[in-house]
Amino acid sequence: MDVLVIGAGQAGLAAGYFLKRRGLDYRLLDAGAAAGGAWRHGWESLTLFSPAAQSSLPGWPMPPTPGGGYPPRDAVIAYLTAYEARYALPVQRPVQVTAVRRAAEGLRVEAAEGAAWTARAVISATGTWSHPFVPQVPGREAFAGRQIHSARYRRPADFAGQSVLVVGGGNSGAQILAEVSRHAARATWVTERPPVFLPDDVDGRVLFDRATARWQAEREGRPAPPPLGGLGNIVMVPPVVEARARRVLHSLPPFARLEAAGAVWADGSRVAAEAIIWCTGFRPALDHLAPLGLVEADGRVRVSPEGQALAEPRLWLLGYGDWTGAASATLAGVTRAARAVVAAILP
Ligand code: FAD
Repeated sequence: MDVLVIGAGQAGLAAGYFLKRRGLDYRLLDAGAAAGGAWRHGWESLTLFSPAAQSSLPGWPMPPTPGGGYPPRDAVIAYLTAYEARYALPVQRPVQVTAVRRAAEGLRVEAAEGAAWTARAVISATGTWSHPFVPQVPGREAFAGRQIHSARYRRPADFAGQSVLVVGGGNSGAQILAEVSRHAARATWVTERPPVFLPDDVDGRVLFDRATARWQAEREGRPAPPPLGGLGNIVMVPPVVEARARRVLHSLPPFARLEAAGAVWADGSRVAAEAIIWCTGFRPALDHLAPLGLVEADGRVRVSPEGQALAEPRLWLLGYGDWTGAASATLAGVTRAARAVVAAILP
């Protein structure tokens, strides 16, 4: 086989589209029970923060959302499911890849189910969802209440009447605080730095346009326009705008430690809590690459601008964040990164 793609979320599918057009012999392996990648696990009210027209994979635009607005997560799952079928992409699931090893004819890919394949090149597109990150906080084990990561958060009614700490100052933290604060007895937002809110008229589409302008300028050696804000800055989606009107969008700095009944700050102040929702981000899901010995202490792999692993030229990484291509972790941005990988793979 020419190419194995590990992961068939939006990044893997975009790679599949270009591999098919190049006429290569390829296959995608995916651990999920069905199509949709990380979108299958998002919370119930999650929407994109760009309109459908700006959230499309290569070849086929995402259908517009009935009634306008940003597509809800179910619409993204339906789009990814239909996309996979439309291009008859050869996805095998569920297949949990456990190891990628060097072999005489290429890279050997092993799965938990006992199967193994060898390919001349491998594209790893496993995303970050399966690796939620929670910071080391003194006393975390002592806390008597419930702790969940945003990866497992589903709906605000699960916290009705409770005192809840929402930790994290990105889009997940802001959106979850916005809806939990309508149901909880008390919702306290804790962020490492003061949260950065984007102007109301800036959504994912504007962020992507600005990231593209910067990418083009850098390629052409021109001075890059200033960033409008990182993808971690908070997009003012309608629930967050509504929370601002209720005056709940203020945050406390990080607490010093947890105790059984809640959080304690350095000045001795305390907030009692029955639950903590950690909205503290994700790390690349790269356990399967451990046998290659190229995952660095920061959890990443050193790659070329096209995503080729510097220490293993038969391995390519796609969709994990700006380090694998500008805006490659978004629907709109992954096309450019996937096209570059497939153009350069197996010259
Ligand atoms: P995933 O979607 O995670 O797909 C990876 C696939 O690989 C999965 O199907 C998984 O099962 C499989 N896999 C993992 N490990 C293995 C393994 N070892 N073996 C086999 N298969 C494996 N993006 C946008 O474009 N627009 C937005 O508006 C937007 N909003 C967001 C809002 C929030 C709150 C969050 C958290 C994210 C948002 N994103 C948005 C980002 C987007 O959800 C992810 O970045 C995107 O899903 C990443 O796609 P991916 O294909 O790289 O990974």
